[in-house]
Amino acid sequence: MLSHVEVTARVTVTPAAHFVWSNRLDYTHDCLVCLRVGRVMQLQHGKPYGLCAGNEHPAPIRVSGFDTTDHGAERGLRCRISFWWAPFNDLTEPAVQASELSAEPWVQLNYRVGCHTCRDTGAGDWLGIEGFLRSGSGPVTTSCPRCATELVTAAGAPKINLV
Ligand SMILES: [Zn+2]
Ligand SMILES: [Zn+2]
Repeated sequence: MLSHVEVTARVTVTPAAHFVWSNRLDYTHDCLVCLRVGRVMQLQHGKPYGLCAGNEHPAPIRVSGFDTTDHGAERGLRCRISFWWAPFNDLTEPAVQASELSAEPWVQLNYRVGCHTCRDTGAGDWLGIEGFLRSGSGPVTTSCPRCATELVTAAGAPKINLV
């Protein structure tokens, strides 16, 4: 059956930040192709299938919605992941049953951020700072590695819900 989950996240940016969500994410999924639970899927919005980590085989899972929002200092992401799913038991641990939402749901969202302070002082690579938000992480503030200006604050981990 066709199933969907929604991943949502929110960060706060400072006026010095030029913030862009990446369209690539990693998501833990019970994989019907290799019959293993808890596989990390490499997903990219615009790609028609995901790649199951390990031997990187294609899998019927994709990013079917990718909406970013800007409200004042808030940058939001709402990402819909659609996948083909059916019940199975894990190939190497037959007692473990797969589920629509992995037993330990996990996601990593990525972003790129630039520092306007460095841009204004003429630094050539002011746009190249990469960061991520992942399940299990607490509040974190990212600062510019060059000038230490605060850029992005995440209040917590992304949320994952079956929809
Ligand atoms: Zn797989
Ligand atoms: Zn800087």
